[in-house]
Amino acid sequence: MDQTKRTHKDFPGVEWTSGTGAFITVDAEKCTGCANCVNVCLGGCWALEAKKARIKTLGTCMECASCWYVCDSGAISFNWPAGGTGYRSDWG
Ligand code: SF4
Ligand code: SF4
Repeated sequence: MDQTKRTHKDFPGVEWTSGTGAFITVDAEKCTGCANCVNVCLGGCWALEAKKARIKTLGTCMECASCWYVCDSGAISFNWPAGGTGYRSDWG
């Protein structure tokens, strides 16, 4: 399998709960449009429009914080979801 094409759908045993709120936000003023967040996210949560990142959905977020980690401009704020977690997997 081409590792660069993998998404959350390639991982069995994963489930999400709803109602976790906007636990990740992006500051459009700070966003440089580098697309690091879009490229790193296995959940397909991000989109780039008019050179600005926006969150498409957090419904498939794995709460890995990779988007926050790769955002060199500090545009992304990451907090844990309401209730602690909205993502569960068979492996922990
Ligand atoms: S990683 Fe940060 S600066 Fe780059 S597109 Fe995403 S939000 Fe914008
Ligand atoms: S925390 Fe991980 S899965 Fe969630 S939006 Fe960021 S990179 Fe994607």
